[in-house]
Amino acid sequence: MIANILYMRCVYCQKEITTKSSEHVIQNAIGGILESEDICCPECNLAVEKFVDKDFVKIFSPITNNIDYLPKRASTESCYDGQVMCAGQFYDAKFKGRKIISVPKLQQERKCRLDKIKGVVPKQFNFNLQNDVFENGLSKIAFNFAIHSGINPEFLMDFVNVEKDGFNVTSIKFKNRVIPFCPLNIVDSKIEFRNEIQLYHNLILFSNGKELWCYVDLFNVFQYYVLLSEKFESSEKVLRIYAQKCQKIPLSEKHYVEDLHYVKPKHISALLTIFGVTYEECKAQRKEGEDDFSLIRRVINEKIRKESVVSSLSDLVNIGGMVEFVDLLKNSSDTGKINLYHNFSFYFDENDNLIENNFRQYFIDGDGQIKFYPHEMIDVMQSDSKMIREYTSLKFKLMCNYILKNSLLK
Ligand SMILES: [Zn+2]
Repeated sequence: MIANILYMRCVYCQKEITTKSSEHVIQNAIGGILESEDICCPECNLAVEKFVDKDFVKIFSPITNNIDYLPKRASTESCYDGQVMCAGQFYDAKFKGRKIISVPKLQQERKCRLDKIKGVVPKQFNFNLQNDVFENGLSKIAFNFAIHSGINPEFLMDFVNVEKDGFNVTSIKFKNRVIPFCPLNIVDSKIEFRNEIQLYHNLILFSNGKELWCYVDLFNVFQYYVLLSEKFESSEKVLRIYAQKCQKIPLSEKHYVEDLHYVKPKHISALLTIFGVTYEECKAQRKEGEDDFSLIRRVINEKIRKESVVSSLSDLVNIGGMVEFVDLLKNSSDTGKINLYHNFSFYFDENDNLIENNFRQYFIDGDGQIKFYPHEMIDVMQSDSKMIREYTSLKFKLMCNYILKNSLLK
């Protein structure tokens, strides 16, 4: 209860929170569904949207415009850049929603409108990460997750710049150190280079001595470490994990939800208990003329549908893990085999479940030493940044392929 009283102040303006305001830990516009009422007041919620989120979510337009069943209903179509191919040539192009709206050079060459040109095929999309907007938005996610996980905001404020005019917030900027991730051992490589991208968001908040870090993975493509504090103090090691899929199950595929149609009225109270819904909750959502049975069925359905995206990280990461491991062993050198075995048993237990204490935090190097991932990535940034660029562009390519395969883009 004492903790609660401490956190009832808005982290940005310091005003006491009198009206609850729900802030999405990962921006709702990119499919985040985890919400927290412990972060800020309604006014600052709007300020964060204006100063941080609005531009950040635009970066993901190629994804959010083209992927179905994002937990948030598709908002207005937005514009983004990419490349198309026509008659064997690549051209820069502008897209809006799911349409190519202009290919300036091609239109100039042919001297005609785009809709008169046949055989224009989308090939690639641009994600502009070379700016403050990206790091700002990413740091905010890490910051939100830390507060949502009960970390005292005092540890986090060193890297947050809030400008105020009285209580009125006029600017919010995150100054956290943001480090890209790339796989530094063969097991991580195998997890990341599966043939098809797994669309999920994942957050891992962890402490290491006086440092507090958050690993932020958006869409299984944008993977970064955010340094949240260098003066962190805690009696025990912090570890909080959040994982969710980016797509809800399509209505047509939720067979088990349809099954509720065959439930008899006498089972209603058991159903309420199973799905953790109270009768009062249902009553509050009653539509005019709706009987109890339909009402409860609808409320439970909605709950299942929303929760269908919340997943265990273990399930998301460890798809087909064992089979691929055996294949890898066959094709590795002797030293490779040892390192592979080390890291595999470091990340997965005997039942193939992810060992969450290690994943993305530590790995075992070629000499059998345990290494702290963020620190090793700082070294890689300084000594071999080409490796990071190659990894990033490969991930982008996987994402583009996913979009091209799954969207109705034309
Ligand atoms: Zn506030």
